[in-house]
Amino acid sequence: MSGDGTCDPNQATRRQFLAAAGAAAVTLAHASPSLAAETATYRETEGETTATGRSNGPVPAGGELKIAVFQADVTPPLGSPLCRALVRPARKIIDPLSARGLVLLADERPIVLCALDWTSVQNGGYRVWREALAKAAGTTPERVAVHAVHQHDAPSVDFDIDELLIPRGLGGRVCDGPSARAALERVVRALTQSLEQPRRVTHLGLGQARVDRVASNRRIIGPDGKILHGRMSSCKDPAVAAHPEGTIDPDVKLVSFWDGDTPLAAMTYYATHPQSFYGRGAVSADFVGLARSLREAAEPEVFHVHFNGAGGNVAAGKYNDGSPGRRFELAGRLADGMTRAWESVKKEPLRAADLGWRVLPVKLPVRKELTEEACLKVLDDPNQALRERANAAGGLIWVRRCARGESIDLTCLRMGTAYVLHMPGELFVEYQLAAAAMRPDAFLCMAAYGDCGPQYIGTKIAYAQGGYETGPASCVAPETEQVLESAIRTLLS
Ligand SMILES: [Zn+2]
Repeated sequence: MSGDGTCDPNQATRRQFLAAAGAAAVTLAHASPSLAAETATYRETEGETTATGRSNGPVPAGGELKIAVFQADVTPPLGSPLCRALVRPARKIIDPLSARGLVLLADERPIVLCALDWTSVQNGGYRVWREALAKAAGTTPERVAVHAVHQHDAPSVDFDIDELLIPRGLGGRVCDGPSARAALERVVRALTQSLEQPRRVTHLGLGQARVDRVASNRRIIGPDGKILHGRMSSCKDPAVAAHPEGTIDPDVKLVSFWDGDTPLAAMTYYATHPQSFYGRGAVSADFVGLARSLREAAEPEVFHVHFNGAGGNVAAGKYNDGSPGRRFELAGRLADGMTRAWESVKKEPLRAADLGWRVLPVKLPVRKELTEEACLKVLDDPNQALRERANAAGGLIWVRRCARGESIDLTCLRMGTAYVLHMPGELFVEYQLAAAAMRPDAFLCMAAYGDCGPQYIGTKIAYAQGGYETGPASCVAPETEQVLESAIRTLLS
């Protein structure tokens, strides 16, 4: 996330160290796996069988696969803080926000996938959401993946943050806990009801298509290897917009579930910040939400869940000047890509035995400048802006989580020839490209913006290049690249 959605030509002055942008993806693909091997314990649950949910529950017997789909409203009430207080609170609802998900019911305990039209959900917020959905589905939190789509005129939910803010007179100013918990209750109810009528799945359908003129890299690197411009979600400077798209993943991927010839549900994955304009207090699911609606209008029988890929350093800035009409243009282009992905779908039979779920907990190293003392200094300073104090509170929560030795679960869903990786934070697109390069034989999707406690997660080289994403907006150290690269390789092996 970032409070300033426009590109700032003055960022050209941020010049430190020598580095080359294009090398990042290559570096990722060849990094040593040793660090993660030391810090992570691999838990293989593929092929595991348990009694949980086998009898009397929604889980089908005999190798059949079923899915249940659920959707609930998660629009915040007027007055709620948005985007972790980086922007104005909610003053108007432009279009409603939804949580959408599906439960995969096979021979093992259910798997739950859920995408929220929220900026982020992190720390205690993420834990509570995962536990609640697991309980409702009759499974374990390890088998639940919750992701934000990352719209900015939307809530950012962290149930830990008020513990720090209430004693400082800032309770409810960053996260509206009561409305977020009410939203969770609605989602739990919808999930529970969905289990009463699961649908049989016989086939998986996989498709992908190029998206025209939406994603562009936010980080324009100068000839000295340092950040020259931050080209954010919108850009009014034609010279900055004219820079090439840079490193992106231009494809939208689509995974669909079918009962014979009847399509049931589709999940799409595309890596970009989803903002056209924001910050006016006008709650909206933005252009990705509009694109999803266009697809639902075209295929009303197909339940559609959209996940944001590793779009931490990707936005629409090259193609978006921030004027309201651009929202519809971007939506139309993304919907067009989704349509062509849908039309390209190739089906393969899918049975319960073709599903696998892998969990790999990883410990992401803390950024060295981020200390308890440094966070408290900002948090306790009443002269600091709310957004700075909120960021310090987020940093402090992350520092303390790491000090307790907490890990974050990366998970991988295998379905036939497809793999879906579930990743934390505002992850750079290089991770997604590196994952695809590791398994060129497979159909690979990545959902990022899981637990956003770490905030931005750059590549190692990006921390030396400077720029917004790898400054105080990132809670992790450059060595995170090695941990994640190795973990992704393990999950895909
Ligand atoms: Zn962001």
